[in-house]
Amino acid sequence: MSRDRTKWLLSWAEKEEEAAMVVANRAIPRLVASLRPLSTAAATSLPKHVKIVEVGPRDGLQNEKNIVPTQVKIDFINRLSETGLSVIEATSFVSPKWVPQMADHAEVMQGIQKVPGISYPVLTPNLKGFQAAVAAGAKEVSIFGAASELFTKKNINCSIDESLERFSDVLRAAKEANIPVRGYVSCVLGCPYEGKIAPAKVAEVSKKMYAMGCYEISLGDTIGVGTPGNMREMLSAVMKEVPIGALAVHCHDTYGQALANTLVALQMGVSVVDSSVAGLGGCPYAQGASGNVATEDMVYMLHGLGIHTGVDLSKLLEAGAFICKALNRRTNSKVAQASCKL
Ligand SMILES: [Zn+2]
Repeated sequence: MSRDRTKWLLSWAEKEEEAAMVVANRAIPRLVASLRPLSTAAATSLPKHVKIVEVGPRDGLQNEKNIVPTQVKIDFINRLSETGLSVIEATSFVSPKWVPQMADHAEVMQGIQKVPGISYPVLTPNLKGFQAAVAAGAKEVSIFGAASELFTKKNINCSIDESLERFSDVLRAAKEANIPVRGYVSCVLGCPYEGKIAPAKVAEVSKKMYAMGCYEISLGDTIGVGTPGNMREMLSAVMKEVPIGALAVHCHDTYGQALANTLVALQMGVSVVDSSVAGLGGCPYAQGASGNVATEDMVYMLHGLGIHTGVDLSKLLEAGAFICKALNRRTNSKVAQASCKL
């Protein structure tokens, strides 16, 4: 191309840009108007359906200091089964020495009404727990990893890799028995010992658990310190390693960010979220921890976004009221608190 022609093209481009700016200035009101449909378009990119994994009977109750009677747990799960939830994490097959609250795991698993179409996964930290869970009728299990070396060291006294190695027996046995395994990664947005956790570390652990055979990876902000900013950053890293359809988010509401964090995840394509009715639970590692995001609040937000959950909010509120009464405590759900006053 000749130099003259290049010069002409450059000046032409400049003029075009100038002209475009004039048009843009004149057209600002029109531009603003046209942004509205654009933001609506962004909202339609949210998932049409979201699967809620109710973790109240396990993640919630295991943090209760007083032992909850087995029959209350069974009634609670049976009530949750009537709400339209499709996944209810029922209990944990950990050693009663570690978590006395879950010592009645077999009785709970055998006592609940297992409604067809509803999955009742249980936590299984090792092969012994897995075998006991299957004997009690479990059809799905979960395993637990963490994105923090120090958290893993303090909790189970080994490295992350060693902790994952311990689960390989469970995964092998689950594969043989055709039992799906869900993987939790905790401390994805912060750790009580390490502080900030690198998104690359979360991606690395998630990738390993997915490669080991977990069909879904639930990314847990265990101490509830995350913000929409670092949720976005962390998910961007994990999405490069694990398909978005296999990812779930698990937000605790310690700093009041859980719904906002979940919304960011939905906008990024996540369509499985964990929550706990009445916001049950807490966290022994963070002062003022207020447990998981409340399922009632989650359902209220999702329905407000036009997202289908299959959950009946009024029945959910009843299940929440039941367990709060049994535990003699106030609900942590804003929606439940507001509904009470109506
Ligand atoms: Zn949790």
